[in-house]
Amino acid sequence: MPLFHQPNKLSSSDRLLQGIAIATNGLLTIKDHHKSVQAALNALGPVMDVDRIYIFQNHPHPETGEPASSQRWEWVAEGVQPEIDNPELQNIPYPEILPRWYDTLSQKQPIIGLIKEFPKTEREILQPQGILSMLVVPIFIRDYFWGFAGFDDCQQERQWSDSTKAALMAMAGSIGGAISQWETESNLKQLNETLEERVKTRTAELEQAKELAESANDAKSEFMANMSHELRTPLNGILGYAQILNRSQKLAEKERHGVQIIYQCGSHLLTLINDILDLSKIEARKLELSTQEIHFPAFLQGVVEICRVRSDKKGLNFSYQADANLPTGVITDEKRLRQVLINLLGNAVKFTETGTIAFTVENIHSSDVTGENSMACINFQIKDTGVGIAEAEIDKIFQSFEQVGDKKNRAEGTGLGLAISQRIVQLMGGKIEVNSELGKGSIFSFQINLPIAHNWIQKVSTSNGEKIIGYEGVPRHLLVVDDRWENRSVLVELLEPLGFKVTEAENGEEALDQLRQQKFDLMITDIH
Ligand code: ADP
Repeated sequence: MPLFHQPNKLSSSDRLLQGIAIATNGLLTIKDHHKSVQAALNALGPVMDVDRIYIFQNHPHPETGEPASSQRWEWVAEGVQPEIDNPELQNIPYPEILPRWYDTLSQKQPIIGLIKEFPKTEREILQPQGILSMLVVPIFIRDYFWGFAGFDDCQQERQWSDSTKAALMAMAGSIGGAISQWETESNLKQLNETLEERVKTRTAELEQAKELAESANDAKSEFMANMSHELRTPLNGILGYAQILNRSQKLAEKERHGVQIIYQCGSHLLTLINDILDLSKIEARKLELSTQEIHFPAFLQGVVEICRVRSDKKGLNFSYQADANLPTGVITDEKRLRQVLINLLGNAVKFTETGTIAFTVENIHSSDVTGENSMACINFQIKDTGVGIAEAEIDKIFQSFEQVGDKKNRAEGTGLGLAISQRIVQLMGGKIEVNSELGKGSIFSFQINLPIAHNWIQKVSTSNGEKIIGYEGVPRHLLVVDDRWENRSVLVELLEPLGFKVTEAENGEEALDQLRQQKFDLMITDIH
């Protein structure tokens, strides 16, 4: 670029253009904005042959808030005293002391000319500084009067040509453009930082809100668990005594009927309490499975027995078909699986007036039958010939507290059973599906994979519906430990008629005293 290396051979207007080109290049390419303006002034100074170039920025006066201006950049020729550190050139209330300047510049016009021709008030300020002629051009950022650039000549009374004036006005425009870009960038950076800060604060707030909600939920679950325990204890007394009274030979038919109603209402209340507790656990995502090895056919038989009694009472046929290939031992949450099956079978009985309830359990396939990780895929199906469900309502029935169809059937339930059952089956890795036709009947089914247990222990034997009246062998002595008298009393009344000798203890200390004094065959304690 020979143009930049041989400045002396160029005409003064070419030199000016060259200086403006270098200055603009500096404004566009130098990252540090303070340095880039300084570089622009350094490029312009020598080619313009002036004594001082300076840039002032407008701003509100820090104390009065009135318009003021401060020098930000400066270039001086050799031998000229720099003024950049002069405190008098900061916060100048110049609309007040140089009102003509402020008016002219703010209308995008330059101040130009020989100082001796300037108004007296201006001469008094400028002549003591040795300035003979000057050109001041406004710097605008869009329509905002940002400041001005001034060029002082102390050597000669220079006549500024129109082309120089126009070139410097254009230069001031470039400086304004560059400043506007830095301002936008710095605003953007600030905005980004504020945004990041806000995101951080909001995340922390959300985290805190989540913790609060979780602890509130935990408190609710704990309350529900305690409450349901508190409600169940007196219910045990009611249900236990209703059973004991029902066994009594002395009751007349009417009283027996009354006792049975007490028992039914108590049972219903117990179901409600258990359902609400389950639901609150589901909401708090605290419903967990607790698996153990069970004898699968015996387990199913137990479920069938309970449901067959209800179905017989309604005069319905009950058919139970178990696959011959069912695994004997499986690992599952016995209590929860029973709860699901009893809910589905119970609904089938409840919503069927005539016909058949068919319960089918099928082994779809078993994998790795002898290995440690053997699994059986079991399909459970409950089919009834009951009222059925309208297609539009099928999606609703799995929602909490939703009951559909005929209102007279609703009183018996809570609308919670299916919501809870679906959640349990989902935890077991399956999904309850429904197929139903209004007026014809419904099929509820689900498939789950159950690990096969090889070393299962057969536990409780199933009851055959006969009444227990006593036991053979020597009389056994039992110790019943429970802080609630009603719980102890139910056990005593149940077990003593069968021939057991029962001793009561109200707490652990009393129980230990009793154990020191005599020998017991079995101790029954409150699990809580
Ligand atoms: P509920 O305590 O009312 O039985 P569920 O959640 O178990 O609550 O069932 C919700 C609703 O789904 C029932 O109220 C009933 O309208 C409908 N439903 C469930 N099972 C059957 C069925 N086998 N036949 C017809 N309707 C059923």
